[in-house]
Amino acid sequence: MRYILPAVAKQLFTDIKETYEENAQIPDDLLIALRFVFGSCALQALDLVDQCAVTCVSSPSGRKAFQVVGGSGRLYTCFISCHYCPCPAFTYSVLRRNEGLLCKHILAAYLCQAMGVIQQETVSDQQMSTLLCGTAALDT
Ligand SMILES: [Zn+2]
Repeated sequence: MRYILPAVAKQLFTDIKETYEENAQIPDDLLIALRFVFGSCALQALDLVDQCAVTCVSSPSGRKAFQVVGGSGRLYTCFISCHYCPCPAFTYSVLRRNEGLLCKHILAAYLCQAMGVIQQETVSDQQMSTLLCGTAALDT
């Protein structure tokens, strides 16, 4: 239940983590594999990683969410634990048409985690509830 991605994708993130720890870059063969598994959203996700667009928000109770600033500057709150992103691409490609495994925001969150370049932010449990209810973005 915890991991909804296919084994091939899971292995890819593990490989990226290991090589990135060693060389501080992702080798071409892994980039090609990433492109193969995730299609065009792979490159868009890497752009988001370059822009440091992903923040991991956590609260004292242990809840966790990822905030990703999209290309348009909009902030998306993604839930990796249940694989959900509120962006239109996720609704259209992943949920309705079943064409992609995930959108660029969730992929960027996975990549940032694998590469260890994710920004961390701690919020109170109350702020987290607000976030999870989708009523407001975190203004900092
Ligand atoms: Zn998304």
